Amino acid sequence: MKLIDGISRMATLVKMLKKEGKSIGFVPTMGYLHEGHMSLVKAAKKHTDVVIMSIFVNPIQFGPKEDFKKYPRDIKRDEALAAETGVDIIFCPTAEEMYPEGFTTYVNVEGLSSVLCGASRIGHFMGVATVVAKLFNIIKPDVAYFGQKDAQQVIAIKQMVCDLNMDIEIKTIPTVRESDGLAMSSRNIYLSEPQRRQALVLKQSLDRAINLVSAGERSSENIIKEMRSLILRMPMVEIDYVSIVDTKNLKDISDISDEVLIALAVFVGKTRLIDNIIVKV
Ligand code: AMP
Repeated sequence: MKLIDGISRMATLVKMLKKEGKSIGFVPTMGYLHEGHMSLVKAAKKHTDVVIMSIFVNPIQFGPKEDFKKYPRDIKRDEALAAETGVDIIFCPTAEEMYPEGFTTYVNVEGLSSVLCGASRIGHFMGVATVVAKLFNIIKPDVAYFGQKDAQQVIAIKQMVCDLNMDIEIKTIPTVRESDGLAMSSRNIYLSEPQRRQALVLKQSLDRAINLVSAGERSSENIIKEMRSLILRMPMVEIDYVSIVDTKNLKDISDISDEVLIALAVFVGKTRLIDNIIVKV
């Protein structure tokens, strides 16, 4: 496995791979890898010749009061895990090279960026779309892999790829969970033992929603109310949002009649956690 930090070195290697006719699978990450990231790599290995993973804690997708500085980083551990899972190349550019003095161009996926997580994380999705566009231009993947865990992110990226005529297939990989149901996340490491226990309410509230829909409930208002009351039983958990939305345009759905995304974000102490499911009726 190669570890590359320079953009021009990465671009040269990509050129060589393309010349050899190799297809490129790309897995963008912020590192501190876990099984969720690895499931993206495993999918990429099945479909493409060469798997490139980026590890870059992207400063422009963090708000001024967010956890950019303390976001967990451990490149040695990541290297070992990535090599074990079959990543061929890790690309880990520096923020200075990605955003040099005079950098002024940003990608904004309008509408999709300002709802759900975008309502409380102003500028977050512009940061995400911009870095992903830059990484796509450097790595020129045939297929890029994203997790369903960050449902809004993958929907926004698909929209960007379509709107900007990027010739890249976007694949969405199911959420990988801990054995007790908590969605894997690099941020789970922030949780104390009691917070970790209370964080299970994310998945429990989604399960409650599934059960209600299975029992015939179609009113989003009723389902959200039930989910919120379950969550509010946890004193360490504060709700950011609980929403039921269209899976493509993320607009609120009041009566469930087809396929919906049920998504939520909460704070457990200072840690912001998200989860979601797609429900079909
Ligand atoms: P991150 O490093 O958190 O930015 O995540 C990098 C990629 O891994 C994104 O496409 C995420 O959606 C995906 N990912 C993160 N956690 C999980 C998970 N538990 N299951 C599946 N994919 C995940």
